[in-house]
Amino acid sequence: MDTLAAYKEHLREIGKLESALSLLNWDQRTNLPRKGHPARAEVIGKLTKMVFSLSVSDKLGEYLEKLQGQDGLTEVERASVRVVGKAYLRHKVIPPAFYEEYAIAAARSETAWEEAKEKSDFELFKPHLERMVDYARKFAEYYGYDESPYDALIEEFEPGMTSAELKTIIEPLRSELVPFIKRLMEEGKRPKDGFMQGTFPEEMQRTLSLKALSAMNYDFDAGRLDQTVHPFTTTIGPSDVRITTRYLPHNVLSGLASSMHEGGHALYDQGIPDDLRWSGLDEGASFGIHESQSRMWENLVGRSRPFWTFFAPIAGEVVPQLSVVSAEDLYRAVNIVKPSLVRVEADEVTYNLHIMLRFELEQALITGEINVSDLPGLWRDAMKRYLGVVPEDDAHGVLQDVHWSSGLFGYFPSYMLGNLYSAQFFAAARREITDLDEQIAGGKLSELLAWLRENIHQYGKMYEPKELVERITGEAPNSSHFVRYIVDKYTDVYGLR
Ligand code: ZN
Repeated sequence: MDTLAAYKEHLREIGKLESALSLLNWDQRTNLPRKGHPARAEVIGKLTKMVFSLSVSDKLGEYLEKLQGQDGLTEVERASVRVVGKAYLRHKVIPPAFYEEYAIAAARSETAWEEAKEKSDFELFKPHLERMVDYARKFAEYYGYDESPYDALIEEFEPGMTSAELKTIIEPLRSELVPFIKRLMEEGKRPKDGFMQGTFPEEMQRTLSLKALSAMNYDFDAGRLDQTVHPFTTTIGPSDVRITTRYLPHNVLSGLASSMHEGGHALYDQGIPDDLRWSGLDEGASFGIHESQSRMWENLVGRSRPFWTFFAPIAGEVVPQLSVVSAEDLYRAVNIVKPSLVRVEADEVTYNLHIMLRFELEQALITGEINVSDLPGLWRDAMKRYLGVVPEDDAHGVLQDVHWSSGLFGYFPSYMLGNLYSAQFFAAARREITDLDEQIAGGKLSELLAWLRENIHQYGKMYEPKELVERITGEAPNSSHFVRYIVDKYTDVYGLR
């Protein structure tokens, strides 16, 4: 077998193991009986180790080295060698013993976090978090960086992004949004939503989600919708991209938004072409680009006036009490802004401020400007400054997110970038599909999807996020489209002048 064929076969082996892992993980988070968890954890551990050793094996290193200098590769093959090669070097520099030590400490830290959150006791979590910060710094040293150790960590989630660049992107966001939110709250007229109160059976909510996903052209022959506690989307393998969601008994819109969000992730993965399968390129360009797809369908489409023009009669059919509510009132009700303590409950106006706060704190932790013991106080200060609300306990403050407990630093910015990219992409789509609003109002969402397929999905991981954004929009990633979108929309919804 020649090197290229052997290389492809090696990636297919990894791909098949990862497919099994995805199925085991999906099952664990949807259907697995409680008593089955310990054994499942062992099986997952075993497979994870197998995948890891194949991804850093000397054999793969040899293939990559030979192929890097080889002529006659197709564009996809060259991209595959570049992307897989980069990941290979990144993983190879981590000593296996160090990684194992970290993995054990991270598992303990997560357990400690759960207890600390439950008791709202930061002191219980503090020593673990200190350890996780230390590990993150060591990872950064192994990976290497030019300016800031934090950059080495972002690279995992948003290749090519740096903290310096993030600061430039964030600055206008902060200076525009913080005063705008204050104005909304003080001068704006909050939409009414009394008609949304009630109890909504799961089956009803599921029907509503299925209707929205069908309208989005999610392919149910290549996926399915299930329930879970923390919704996620997972690709089990080619033509098997599954969505999970959750339904709150008293909030019918929450489950719908969650399904449309995950549906956006799923459309991305369903749109990755077969010739990228198991090539190292069969995933999104980055966490941020992936999030741009989910946020676009959840917010720019799902919380838009045209969408509710189309969807209100459908919602009224499924949820009888909504049948007497006008499309306009429903549109306004799904766009209520409320500065709150908890990120995952935040509306699209305040959401990025939650991320900004986390970004500032975590990069200062990694560079050593602040200490773990300063966190609870700094958190409260920043909440007051940005959102005007202050948590009464750490469970609703610094302890609310799971990420840091397992050493995930550099992840949060992807959420914010996803929002910014989504607005930047949507503005580009709107330039090219001139009657986009009319199409959405008519329930025709296929042309937007075709645009996303053409410009984003078909490339999988072939381009780095910045390159992709520039190719599509002609501009570097920036926050101006998002700010304009938010200010225009909510000036109208809240009747500001
Ligand atoms: Zn998401």
